[in-house]
Amino acid sequence: MKKFEDLGLNPKLLKAVSRLKYENPTPVQEQSIPPILAGKHVVACAQTGTGKTAAFVLPTIQSITRSSRKKPVPHALVVVPTRELATQVEKVAKVAAQPYEYKVRSVVGGIKYKPQLERLSRGVDVLVATPGRLLDLTDDKQIDLSQIQILILDEADRMLDMGFWPPIKKILNMIPRDSQKLLFSATIGSEINKMVGAHMKNSVKVEIARKGETAQHIIQSCMPVEHSQKADLLLALLSRRSTGKTLIFTRTKRRANMLARILSKNKIKCQAIHGDRSQSQRTRALKDFTTNRIDILVTTDVMARGIHVDNIDTVINYDTPVSPEDYVHRIGRTGRAGQKGDAITFVAPEEMLALRDIEFLMKEVIPAVDLEDFPYREGRTIPSEKRLAVKEKPKPFQHRSRKKSSRPRNRRR
Ligand code: AMP
Repeated sequence: MKKFEDLGLNPKLLKAVSRLKYENPTPVQEQSIPPILAGKHVVACAQTGTGKTAAFVLPTIQSITRSSRKKPVPHALVVVPTRELATQVEKVAKVAAQPYEYKVRSVVGGIKYKPQLERLSRGVDVLVATPGRLLDLTDDKQIDLSQIQILILDEADRMLDMGFWPPIKKILNMIPRDSQKLLFSATIGSEINKMVGAHMKNSVKVEIARKGETAQHIIQSCMPVEHSQKADLLLALLSRRSTGKTLIFTRTKRRANMLARILSKNKIKCQAIHGDRSQSQRTRALKDFTTNRIDILVTTDVMARGIHVDNIDTVINYDTPVSPEDYVHRIGRTGRAGQKGDAITFVAPEEMLALRDIEFLMKEVIPAVDLEDFPYREGRTIPSEKRLAVKEKPKPFQHRSRKKSSRPRNRRR
C-alpha cells in the first residue's frame, strides 16, 4: 500500500493531510492523485464513502496557479448536485487551501443571493457550486469562468438524475477548452460516457468499485414485511436493537414527514430532512445528528448524496429504492472509510421487483431476516425461489434511469 508521501503531494498538502487526520490514502486517492497532478483528465468510478472528495481536492489545490489579478477569480470549479455536498467539499478544500491562502467559496441554491455575492466580491480561487445557482451568477456576470484551470464534476450520475445535465453542458462551454477535467461518479452510464468522449479525451479511468458493488464491510439484509406493518416493524426494530446513528430512507418527502411524526410520537428523537425543508431546518437537523443530539435522521434519496456524517452505524431503507443505483448510494452512507455498517431494507410484496433489480445489479442475494416474535401478517413473505434467481435479468421494471418505453407505464407502486 502506498503512502501519501508517494503520490507526489508537496509538503504543504501533506500537512493538510495530517490536519485532516488521514493516515494512509484510500484506493481512490492512491489511483487518482498522481494522474491529476500530472495534468490528466480523470474519470473515477467510485462509490460514496471511498474518500473521493480528498482525491480531487488535494491535487487540485496543488495544481492551480493564481493569476496576478488583484481580486482572484476562480481557477478551480467543483460542481456538485446538492448544497450539503457543497458544504462537505468546501470544508475539505478549506483545510487543503489554507497553506496557500487560497479563498474557497461556495454558491448554492436555496439560500440568499446577496450574501453569496458579497463573499464572492472579496475574491475566490476555488469555487464550489450547485449548477442552477452557478448559472444564475454567470448569467448575471457575477462570476467569470474564463480562468478555470480545473473543473470537477462530483457525483455526476446524481446530477444527471436530477436534471442538471443541460446546465452542466453550458458550464462546459464557458470554461477554457484546454482546462483539466475530473469526473467522479458512483455509476457511469452511457450519457456520462458520451460527455467524457466529447470533453475528456484521453482521460485516465479509475475504477474503485464495479458498477453496483458496495463496500464489503456493509452488512446487508432485507426484512420482508407488508406495507401497512412497516411503521410497527421499525418501532419494534429500534426498540430491540441498538442501531446507533441511523439514517432512514423513505420514498417521498411526505412519507419522511409522516415517519418522523410516528417516531416522535413514540418518544424516539429524530428529525426529517428533505427538499421541502428550509435550509436552516436542514442545517439544524444535520447539526443535531452530527453532534449526537438525535440518533435518527429520516430522509429521501435526493438528500442522500449531500449528507456527510461520519460514523453512521445503520442505514434503514424504510422503502425499497426503485432505482438500484439509489440503493448503492443509500447504503454507501454507512461503512465509510472502512468502518462497519448495517444496511437493512424493508421489502413489501409490491417492492419485490425493485429488490430483484437491486440484487441483479449487485450480483448477490441480500439475505432476508425476520425480527423474532414480531406479529407478521400473512402474505408478506418473499418466496425464496423468486429471490434467488438473480442471474437472470429481472422482468421489465420501469424506473427513472431507464429509457422511456412507448408502452404504458407499469403501475406497480
Ligand atoms: P468521501 O468519499 O469523500 O465522502 O469520504 C468519506 C469519508 O472518508 C469522510 O469521512 C472522510 O473524512 C474519510 N476519509 C477520506 N480519506 C480518508 C483517508 N485517507 N483516511 C481515512 N479517512 C478518510
